[in-house]
Amino acid sequence: MATRILIVGGGLAGTIIANGLCRQVGDEISKGNISITMLGTSETHMYQPGLLYVPFGKIREKELFRPQRKVLDKKIIFHVDPAKNIDVDSQKVTTESGKVYEYDYLVIATGSRIMPQNIPGMVEGAHWLYDLDGARKMRDALEAFEGGKIVVNVNAPHKCPVAPVEITFMLHDYLSKKGLMDKTEITYTYPIGRVHALEPVAEWAKPAMDQHGIKYETFFNTKEVDPKAKTISSEEGVTLNYDFLVTIPPHNGAEIITNSGLGDGGWVPTNKTKLLREGSENVFVCGDTTNIPISKAGSTAHFEADTIIDNLTSLITEKRWARDYDGKVFCFVETGMNSGTYVWFDYNTPPNPGAPSQMIHWFKLAYNRLYWLSARGLL
Ligand SMILES: Cc1cc2nc3c(=O)[nH]c(=O)nc-3n(C[C@H](O)[C@H](O)[C@H](O)COP(=O)(O)OP(=O)(O)OC[C@H]3O[C@@H](n4cnc5c(N)ncnc54)[C@H](O)[C@@H]3O)c2cc1C
Repeated sequence: MATRILIVGGGLAGTIIANGLCRQVGDEISKGNISITMLGTSETHMYQPGLLYVPFGKIREKELFRPQRKVLDKKIIFHVDPAKNIDVDSQKVTTESGKVYEYDYLVIATGSRIMPQNIPGMVEGAHWLYDLDGARKMRDALEAFEGGKIVVNVNAPHKCPVAPVEITFMLHDYLSKKGLMDKTEITYTYPIGRVHALEPVAEWAKPAMDQHGIKYETFFNTKEVDPKAKTISSEEGVTLNYDFLVTIPPHNGAEIITNSGLGDGGWVPTNKTKLLREGSENVFVCGDTTNIPISKAGSTAHFEADTIIDNLTSLITEKRWARDYDGKVFCFVETGMNSGTYVWFDYNTPPNPGAPSQMIHWFKLAYNRLYWLSARGLL
């Protein structure tokens, strides 16, 4: 009988793994010795990092989407039928439509989701760009903005660790170019005692914020937003007035993870090098949904996916492990509308952001297009 690989989640991690496996074991799939089935929620694949450019009118929405079936290798069996329950003891996944899928190896790649509803008043009072609807609304509101107090409010956990500083510097640049910065004040809030969780990024971002006249309020754990009074308050007792509130909402993992009893908050306890679910020998976890204390980022998911592809291939064809995941993450960081830098780090090497340049910004724009090759397992 064929070795059955089941992938739950057709986002960045699930897609890279599925296509990467086809490149490694395509012949075995053709011979009927291995099957790959993916369960997803949509016929459409969205490139989430592109959302960053929507509020600033810097990307056509069409560039963010591709039909999922065209992104996937034809050897992959793809169903738009969200998983409803994952039973790791009986090695079965039940879907919304009532179908039951048995597996030999399972990959959980169900990502994370924004939870603005967890903070009173946030849905009504704040803008965000973490989903398409929010990014569109923020674009329209920014177009109408004529100056005033802007608060960029950061909550944890959230995906894309550098997005908050990118949004802040891009806002500053966008409003400067519109001639509105002389009547605008930007205040950035962060939940811990510095402006970024990664210390070297905080050390780089703080003087850059000072230079741009951007204020910051650290130890700001959001308690509530009052959309009528236009205030945002912290658990620490600080209240800020705003005319325009941008938030990085808190995130949870997917509902199915908590509903299946696989992890609090939707985060699956995961071995940080083997990327196996703790307690399982045949359940891999990839991308935002792990509880590994590293950045929830597309590049994290990509480097993890490459490790899982190699290990699954080796386990099935040679009964041995290929390698460990070393915690590698690489992120481009926009530092304005025309400049950028980058950070990379792993479990042993801290990040070290370099001087921003226009060339690195162009690299980031180029990667936004190259992503589609990456998702197909070609990059
Ligand atoms: C505005 C923004 C900017 C970003 N910028 C960057 C960046 O510059 N660099 C970077 O590296 N990362 C960036 N990211 C983060 C990156 O997009 C995510 O970390 C990445 O998509 C994680 O991949 P994933 O596969 O774990 O999750 P996702 O890509 O979110 O995929 C999860 C998939 O699982 C599906 N799913 C959920 N529940 C079920 C279910 N029950 N059954 C079946 N399927 C299910 C979801 O619908 C989704 O398709 C950014 C994200 C945003 C929002």
